[in-house]
Amino acid sequence: MNQASTTCPYCGVGCGVIATHDGCTVMSVEGDRDHPANYGRLCVKGSALHETLGNHGRLTRPRVDGGEVDWDTALDTVATRLADIQRKHGHQSVAAYLSGQLLTEDYYVANKLFKGFLGTPHLDTNSRLCMASAVAAYKRSLGADAVPCNYEDLEEAELVVLVGSNLAWNHPVLFQRLRTAKQRNPLMRVVVIDPRVTDTCEIADLYLGIRPGSDARLFNGLLAWMDAKRRLDRIYLERHTQGIDEALAAAHQEDCRIDAIASDCDVDPERLETFFYWFATQLHVVTLYSQGINQSSSGTDKCNAIINCHLAGGKIGLPGAGPFSITGQPNAMGGREVGGLANQLAAHMDYHTPGAIDRVTRFWATGSLAPSLPEEPGYKAVELFEAIERGEIRAVWIMATNPGVSLPDANRMRRILAACPLVIVSDCMANADILQYADIVLPASSWSEKDGTVTNSERRISRQRGMLPPPGEARHDWWIISQIATRMGFGEAFDYTHPGDIFDEHARLSGFENAGDSTRPFDISGLAGLDRAAYDALAPIQWPVNATAPEGTARLFTDGHFATPDGRARLIPVRPRGPEQALSESRPLRLNTGRVRDQWHTMTRTARAPRLMNHRAEPFIEVHPEDAASLDLNDQQLARLDGAGGDYIGRVRVSHAMRRGEVFVPMHWNDSFSGKARMGGLLAAYLDPVSGQPESKHGAVGLAPL
Ligand code: SF4
Repeated sequence: MNQASTTCPYCGVGCGVIATHDGCTVMSVEGDRDHPANYGRLCVKGSALHETLGNHGRLTRPRVDGGEVDWDTALDTVATRLADIQRKHGHQSVAAYLSGQLLTEDYYVANKLFKGFLGTPHLDTNSRLCMASAVAAYKRSLGADAVPCNYEDLEEAELVVLVGSNLAWNHPVLFQRLRTAKQRNPLMRVVVIDPRVTDTCEIADLYLGIRPGSDARLFNGLLAWMDAKRRLDRIYLERHTQGIDEALAAAHQEDCRIDAIASDCDVDPERLETFFYWFATQLHVVTLYSQGINQSSSGTDKCNAIINCHLAGGKIGLPGAGPFSITGQPNAMGGREVGGLANQLAAHMDYHTPGAIDRVTRFWATGSLAPSLPEEPGYKAVELFEAIERGEIRAVWIMATNPGVSLPDANRMRRILAACPLVIVSDCMANADILQYADIVLPASSWSEKDGTVTNSERRISRQRGMLPPPGEARHDWWIISQIATRMGFGEAFDYTHPGDIFDEHARLSGFENAGDSTRPFDISGLAGLDRAAYDALAPIQWPVNATAPEGTARLFTDGHFATPDGRARLIPVRPRGPEQALSESRPLRLNTGRVRDQWHTMTRTARAPRLMNHRAEPFIEVHPEDAASLDLNDQQLARLDGAGGDYIGRVRVSHAMRRGEVFVPMHWNDSFSGKARMGGLLAAYLDPVSGQPESKHGAVGLAPL
């Protein structure tokens, strides 16, 4: 029997896992006691990882136009069809849509092929649906997409504010760490701000059940309150920031009396003032936020409203302090590191970063091959699919994601995919919803088979290690992409034989002409040049990792110097806006969406473990008892939601956790598991104008018995 240390492939906590295997089967998993993300803990999803494995239901042979083919035929067909489309319709007529499930090495090679050598900027990722607003806000304010905090800060804080985050279900090991820290330190306080009463409230000293979408109003109100009570850290603001006057002017444009803010946010004024007082009077405050903030048509502003309060109080760059965005997916951050968002180029450089296009072009040039990088950013997720609808993009390669389930207006997205001239899909599972639209299917390896790295929510790079052979003819994503690149004439630049080769190149690019450039904190040049054994043995480490910080960096901006050109953080004036989609007579209920504790995304893996299905066995609609009564709905009855893009059938769960006039549905179910419970089908495609993130937390729906 063998043991391999690896990383859980589900949420952004990035827990270390010890897998016991015999080279064919993983018999058991346990938490890695030495991994700093979890110190031996696993949640129920992580502890059932081995129950989701097995070759049944896997994709094992490539397919072209519905028929099984060998790899040479599949690869040649992809290369030929992509080249034909580019020849007829231009470089930018092809696109890729990736996933936070991919490993950093896979992401790097895909980004290099599409942006570097195919000359199209249209490569985006499902991470756009998850944390794009948090990224945009960090960049606007701190100068870089650089999470300042780490998990220990949650344990060291005097006050932890959880806003738009059901930590207990969505990042359970972090919740366990926080609960333990609170038990050890009775003076620690936890505030939960969420329209729903969730299991996270179990550890809350104070709960604010706010009106959906009123978060920016609340944090603007906090900023104004701190100003009125002389609780701003004027010395910190003077030395390290810009923009406090503009941010305050925006905040003061609204009625800043506690009663008015409480009324707009629909919370009790005394509780609100208690929160304001706790925030303003503690230095060691962490505000942890997630999709409840990000998935909004004003998500970037909401994130900035939070960051403003931290900057205004000097609550950043210290142990136990900072605005902390927690990512949903295991490698959302690794994807950002290589340029996996359409507005990024590579290694955290954007198209408009001075000198970036030239720098990346020179770095990627190999022998006789010169890359042809686009000059401007590409289309972001929803925009990319709309470009397919217009006929502007005629081929899309989708890797490890189900956009016909998870994108808003999902039924329209499905029609778009059905009409797209060329859809290439790389996936592991034969029941992936996306396969019904694929002209070409490429079977990919999965967790326990793949080798590479992921980066978790605290900037910690960890190894995922392969221990089993992929089933049938399934292959690693980096290999598939490199093979296509080679057949399109770019082999010299994609001559990789191992993911360690790719990681080395990625690490070198992060440090390329980056010495001493504080506007580019993403630098892992200290990890360049690892030989195969050192890469295999790589221990979890937080970036930056370079000559200055060879052991990694636990916390950023500790000296008050930020990643902006002048080193000062920016406070951003925020004018709160509510959800875009208005309620109407026929759709009078506000829709909220999210995850359930024991499922992951579109369930292709977690539905394979019976004990994970037991928690919530079927799609449901959570509704307040008074709404249920007024609609003649009983608990456990089947009902139908009617939304902007379609309908959804689920079983009613009558619950006092809901506010009146609001309903909640889970995001997971799709055609493979239920023909009529696709959350994305209910939502209209409203986007944040800065980040392009869809407003997946808000819809307008009607509800009726089936
Ligand atoms: Fe995996 Fe997240 Fe659970 Fe950790 S908390 S075991 S990373 S799902």
